[in-house]
Amino acid sequence: MALPLTGCPRDGNCPRDGNCPRESQQGGAAEAAPPGLLRGLRPVCRPSGQGARGLPEGGPGQAPQLAPMPRALLPPSTAGMCAPACGRRAGGRRWRWAWRWRRGAAALALGLGRALAARRRARREVLFFPSPPRCTEALLAQAEAPGAAPRPCPCPLPHGESSLGRLLRHLLSARRSLDLCLFAFSSPQLGRAVRLLHRRGVRVRVLTDAQYMALRGSQIGPLRLAGIPVRHDQESGYMHHKFAVVDGRLLITGSLNWTTQAIQNNRENVLVTDDAEYVTAFLDEFERIWEEYNPANYAFFPQGHK
Ligand SMILES: [Zn+2]
Repeated sequence: MALPLTGCPRDGNCPRDGNCPRESQQGGAAEAAPPGLLRGLRPVCRPSGQGARGLPEGGPGQAPQLAPMPRALLPPSTAGMCAPACGRRAGGRRWRWAWRWRRGAAALALGLGRALAARRRARREVLFFPSPPRCTEALLAQAEAPGAAPRPCPCPLPHGESSLGRLLRHLLSARRSLDLCLFAFSSPQLGRAVRLLHRRGVRVRVLTDAQYMALRGSQIGPLRLAGIPVRHDQESGYMHHKFAVVDGRLLITGSLNWTTQAIQNNRENVLVTDDAEYVTAFLDEFERIWEEYNPANYAFFPQGHK
């Protein structure tokens, strides 16, 4: 005896003889499969009174309902989101989007990591002197007028990288502060760069040696005239340091005196590093000497001298 069908989405068109083609194609699988594997199967025509295992029976005119997959069996990204009616295609699209998103995020993280590593490598460098004769005019002119069209330099010097050029670039990278602790300072190019930074608003402080700052060609006078604070020793021994700290993050130190003689003729070395342990140690030393050389503590004249 043919039983009436209920819940067929093709109500009115289904041959009500119990031989619904969808029944024959999917019903058997739906009955044989455990409830947890029914997700994705479409509703099936079924004679009334013959509900499949795990499927509630629907009354006349009602769409059949499949048992939802237990939450424990759902993938984490779809648990709680997938209604019983959603099909395998919708779940597949979610998985594909999730996979693409994760792959894109991984590629982005990898790129950022490489960029940061390259940036860090660029902040550790050793410079050796004497520096070959190279033009630094173009570099300094560009720093003095950023954004201006580069002009050809008429000087006869070759143009290209040099240790002095690299040293200038590291100094000119300052944005907030420049602390100099130098025994001798007479290089016109380095003096020009320091005054440029001062005009740019960078806080510049200079510690130097009282005897060498008075020598002919010293840059200390022009720095003071520009308004840069300079403090010096008052001892018989030399203030013999040769280091600079840029923005409290980059240390420049070595054997090099900042003089044309040393830059062009001497064998010298300069280490450039952003290693925080070294930068902090040199900054602490600078602050200690800066306070020690406070002019309020100068005692050039004996007590009571008028
Ligand atoms: Zn030139």
